[in-house]
Amino acid sequence: MSEGEFWNPGMELLSGEEIRNLQLRKLREVLERCLHSPFYRQWFRDAGFEPRKLAAMEDLRALPPMDKETLRGGDPRRFLTVPMEEVVRLHSSSGTTGQATVIFHTARDIDAWTELVARCMYMTGVRRRDVFQNMMGYGLFTGGLGFHYAAERIGALVIPAGSGNSKRQIQLMRDFGTTVVHVIPSYALYLLDVFRELGLDPRRDTSLRMAFIGAEPHTESLRRRLEESYGIKAYNSYGLSEMSGPGVAFECPFQEGMHVWEDSFILEVLDPRTLEPVPEGEEGELVFTTLHREGMPLLRYRTHDLARVLPGPCRCGRAHRRISRIKGRTDDMFIVKGVNIFPMQVERVLLGVLGVGSNYRILLETVDNRDEMRVQVEVSGDLWHGEVRELNQLRRRIVQELRQEILVTPQVELMEPGSLPAGEGKAVRVVDMREHARGD
Ligand code: ADP
Ligand code: ZN
Repeated sequence: MSEGEFWNPGMELLSGEEIRNLQLRKLREVLERCLHSPFYRQWFRDAGFEPRKLAAMEDLRALPPMDKETLRGGDPRRFLTVPMEEVVRLHSSSGTTGQATVIFHTARDIDAWTELVARCMYMTGVRRRDVFQNMMGYGLFTGGLGFHYAAERIGALVIPAGSGNSKRQIQLMRDFGTTVVHVIPSYALYLLDVFRELGLDPRRDTSLRMAFIGAEPHTESLRRRLEESYGIKAYNSYGLSEMSGPGVAFECPFQEGMHVWEDSFILEVLDPRTLEPVPEGEEGELVFTTLHREGMPLLRYRTHDLARVLPGPCRCGRAHRRISRIKGRTDDMFIVKGVNIFPMQVERVLLGVLGVGSNYRILLETVDNRDEMRVQVEVSGDLWHGEVRELNQLRRRIVQELRQEILVTPQVELMEPGSLPAGEGKAVRVVDMREHARGD
């Protein structure tokens, strides 16, 4: 690869050792800044942590990790290391698991964030000549504005379409020759049905060549299905509002895990129960420390997202470590008949079966005082209007394959295409209607 393929070669091509040295230097600066924040002064005092004595990265472990609850526990201004006048924007999380959390940004924070997302987009090949349609919600949600500014910085033509309004999305793609989209993967799958309804084939009737998919867990099967149906490359994009938004970890053209930008984030992978680091390469909870944010730095922030660090260097030449696809949040896991199950295990099975359509959901119910798991699966249009015998065969096959994967025999209900609720935002894959508390 030539230097021309890197947006910021100075940062992207650091060696592992250079990254560690830079992290330590930046961490010291961040800790110094934190002394301006009432929250951190107290946090340090309570932990008996002396930031100015930090000698090595490991010393940071003396601080207890924080999470959404820490952020929710009071006025978000107490995290600020700058006067409020310097804050130019706030964003918040989607509130998937409760009250939304607020992050304040200074102008430099927005600039640093934009730079990171631009780096991600450029890495996969977005250039000035591209037409970028951003199908993510604008506003408080970070997926919209985060990508918007980055695409403009690269110099692409940006269509700030926002989420939803499927027919108009397709119209915009066709009218302006959209080449790149940013979209929630479950919505991208749903949109295929709308293309079909309109008698259009995205491979033939659009100029799409690339998609950034993120904001929710999804499987390799889903990605491949999108790539084949749209005739594009789809890249996994990971971020969270607490770490500014998108641009935390991103796939390079090799699509073998997502590079975490370690010049801007310290990554730890911890056992969610003991909060100790897991052995290298094992699955655990991602915990990040911001190194690039001046207004509201976060130290050892627990994402509750589960992934693992992939071994070895990447073929693209970047030493920034890679993480696997996100398996889900720790609280996505549900227990049926004593077995731990993640929705992504179900998705992996379903999307590997021919005849399965664009949407599914998992219902958990109590029947005769026992847990029942029901999986509702939309089937493809051809199959739905075809023979009952084939539908029965499909249903049996899905039950069998699910049982093999999750060790529980679910009820499987085949559904008409388009009949399950499809939102514009993050898909809700599990509806737990059981009588006892979730996760009992
Ligand atoms: P909320 O935490 O309320 O959903 P955010 O909008 O900040 O708010 O979403 C961030 C979360 O979305 C991440 O912590 C993660 O659980 C999920 N997420 C984001 N990108 C991905 C991705 N590429 N793969 C899997 N999950 C993702
Ligand atoms: Zn790479």
